[in-house]
Order: sequence, then structure tokens, then C-alpha cells
Amino acid sequence: MKVIKFGGSSLASAQQLIKVKDIVKSDPTRRFVVVSAPGKRDNDDIKVTDALIKYYKAYTSDQDVSEIQDWIIRRYQSIIDELNLGSKILSKISDSIKKLATEPIEDNDFLYDTFLAAGEDNNAKLIAEYFTKSGVPARYIHPKKAGMFVTSEPGNARIIPSSYDKLEALREYEEVLVIPGFFGVTVDNQICTFSRGGSDITGSIVAAGVKADLYENFTDVDGIFAAHPGVVHKPHSISELTYKEMRELAYAGFSVLHDEALIPAYRGRIPLVIKNTNNPEHPGTKIVLSHEGPQLPVVGIAGDDKFVSINISKYLMNREVGFGRKVLQILEDLHIRWEHMPTGIDDMSIVIRERELTPIKEQEIISQLTRKLEVDEVSIQRGLSIIMLVGENMKSHIGVTAAATKALSERDINLVMISQGSSEVSVMFVIETEQEKKAVRALYKEFFTESSD
Ligand code: ASP
Repeated sequence: MKVIKFGGSSLASAQQLIKVKDIVKSDPTRRFVVVSAPGKRDNDDIKVTDALIKYYKAYTSDQDVSEIQDWIIRRYQSIIDELNLGSKILSKISDSIKKLATEPIEDNDFLYDTFLAAGEDNNAKLIAEYFTKSGVPARYIHPKKAGMFVTSEPGNARIIPSSYDKLEALREYEEVLVIPGFFGVTVDNQICTFSRGGSDITGSIVAAGVKADLYENFTDVDGIFAAHPGVVHKPHSISELTYKEMRELAYAGFSVLHDEALIPAYRGRIPLVIKNTNNPEHPGTKIVLSHEGPQLPVVGIAGDDKFVSINISKYLMNREVGFGRKVLQILEDLHIRWEHMPTGIDDMSIVIRERELTPIKEQEIISQLTRKLEVDEVSIQRGLSIIMLVGENMKSHIGVTAAATKALSERDINLVMISQGSSEVSVMFVIETEQEKKAVRALYKEFFTESSD
């Protein structure tokens, strides 16, 4: 049994829905279909979810809602008309969109989530109707009925573990089940969404719950590329990644899949594949628990910017018991999350995301390090990027870092810091942001093209 999830761009128009139906129809083991809200049809369009945000804002600020309400209803209507689905489903969807503007505003922590969830909920109703009419018997199922119970954290829900047992019962249905993604229901019966892009999470949870053999995540690209296509010209798509490799790449900016979506499938030991609705013949990228067969040492290269380093020096730092803890305590007290911590004998650097460091916090860190910990030097280095070279097979290859540093040095790229954990899933280089693109291109050339210049 397979769980198949379609993203917004795969569901943006009648033409896209025809492709989706053909994909589901072509494989009878595709039994659970998780859907997003209709996405953008072109660059100038807006996503239904974003239109629902506008609708929410108009409603809660006591403005006229009719224009945005009509826009949303017409968005579904154009799909319904083109697919000849009739007026019954249209009035169902229209009523549900209009009903939002009758929900109580006061003391309603879940109103925003209720508005947003309507995008996927109505799309699931529409798609189940379309499938059934085109010869794929299907049933729409609300997350509450499916057993998708979540924590009461508006806009940031997490699944309640007991939901998995309830979801397993979905295996009993005869029809293809169409499940709206992105939200669940709290124990108090409130609609609560995951964070944005969260339909991927629903798909992963359903896959783990029904103990699927495969979770297929359909989007609008041929899987995950070995480097960002905006940086490297036509990078190749990766055929297989492990969950660990995917996590490392997602951390450094590969955003094809919501990062929280990896965990349920990983824990349920369900393989995942990322495929393209517009090119379903392409095998896509498979995400597996471990590689079988020979693999290249490096699977992907990611770069991400907006990092800052706090550089600290103190003579005989290594002799001072508890020094590291005291430094980290300063950050903890200021609620600052740190990312990496390369060290020397008498110095340490703490790499954090730029957004964590407000001017006031920066002042506070410098003052505490100087006064309380009596450091010799402290400086804040901005404008840094990280480059991650990712591949679980690096551990069985000698010379990967040597080849990388040679490629970087040949392009005059200065390495500010280097870090590699003992699991050897990735090597991270910290460099200046202005050299980031050049570095990614150099490494791509080194590891993925036959001849390097
Ligand atoms: N529609 C939601 C969003 O735009 C969730 C999703 O598409 O996964 O964030």
C-alpha cells in the first residue's frame, strides 16, 4: 500500500488534476491520497492558503469580506466547471468558505488555523468527487474521522502519538481515501494546523499510521538536485538519499520537503520517494534508511547564508574547567540557539544564525564574556555562509575533504572554519558569503563532473 501526497502546484488547475487522477489510477496500490490546497497557476497567481490569510485579516478587522470570499470560491469553481463536476460540490465548498465568516472572533485561538485549513479541506472534497466521477471510487475523509489528533499549538501543531493506532484503521476502507493535508484536530475538537507547507507532514504521518510500503511525495521537480539549480547550471537529480543525508541537506537550505515531514516516515521505517507530477516517468529521489549497493562519497552540496560567528580567545582556555559551559550559559540565558562550535586550544567560535543576534543581545554577550569570563578577545564576525558537503559514504573514502579543500583553494576561497562530526555524514566549511556561489560551483564540479578545470 502506498500513501501519495500532492503539493499545491500539482493541484492548481483542472489540467493538473487530470494528471493527478492518471497517476493514482495507474497504480491500484495508491490507496491514500493526501492533498494540499490549490497552489499558484503561474508566477502572478496567489495560493489559496495565502488568499485565506487575506480573508481572515479582512474578517477579523471588520472589513468587507465579499471580494476575497468570491475570489476563493471562484478559484474552486473554475476547476469544478472545467472538470464538469456539477453544482452540488460547488455549493458544498461555497457554503464552507462562507461559513468561516460566521466563526466567533473573540477568545478563539484557533480561528486563523480554521481559515487556513479550509484550503486543503475543500480541495480534498473536490478531488474525491472528481476521482469517483472518473472511475476511481474515492472517499473524502476529515482528519478528525481519520484519527489525526494533534497538540493545541496553533500554527505549529504536533501529532499526538496515540493517533498512529487510530490511523491504522484506515487500511480497512475499500475506496481510495482522499485526506486533506496540513491540519489535525485537538482533543477539544479544534482545527489546528502544522506549520506552513505542512501537508508533507500529514502524508508522512498517514504513511507511518497505515504502515505503508512507500510514501510518494509528488511535487513539481524531478526529485532533489545535488546542488541548488539557481547556483549550478542543470545539476543532476539525486536518485537515492538516506534520511540522515536528507536532514543535512534540508538543514542547509534544500527545501523540497518540509523538514518535520522526515521524522514520522523515518520512525515508521517507511521509504519515501519525491517525484514530479509533470514528469511521473522520472524515478525521482528515493529517501531510504540506508544505502544498498555502491554509492558516490558525496551525494549533495548545499550552501546557506546569514550566519554569524562569535569568536572568543583566552590564554589557557583548555585548562579552565567549565569554561565552555559558562559561555553556553550566557547564550542560553539570552535564548540564543547555537548551530556549530569549532574550537582551538585557546579559542572557540560559536556559529549562530544572524536573526538570533539582536544588537542588544550582542552587547550583552560581549560585556558578559569580558567581565565575567575575563576573555582576552571577543569579536563578532558577520556575513558568513556555510557549505555542507553531504554523503554517508564519505566515511569509507579517504581524501574527500582533501579534494574539496583543493578545489576551493584553487578558486582563492578562504576557509574561515571547518567542522566534521564523528558520524562523517557531512563536512561543513564556513566561508564568506560573497564566495558562497563560487564555492558551491567549484565543489559541484569537483564531485559531479568528469573533468574539472
Ligand atoms: N497549503 C499550506 C501552505 O501553503 C500547506 C501545504 O501546502 O503543504 O503552507
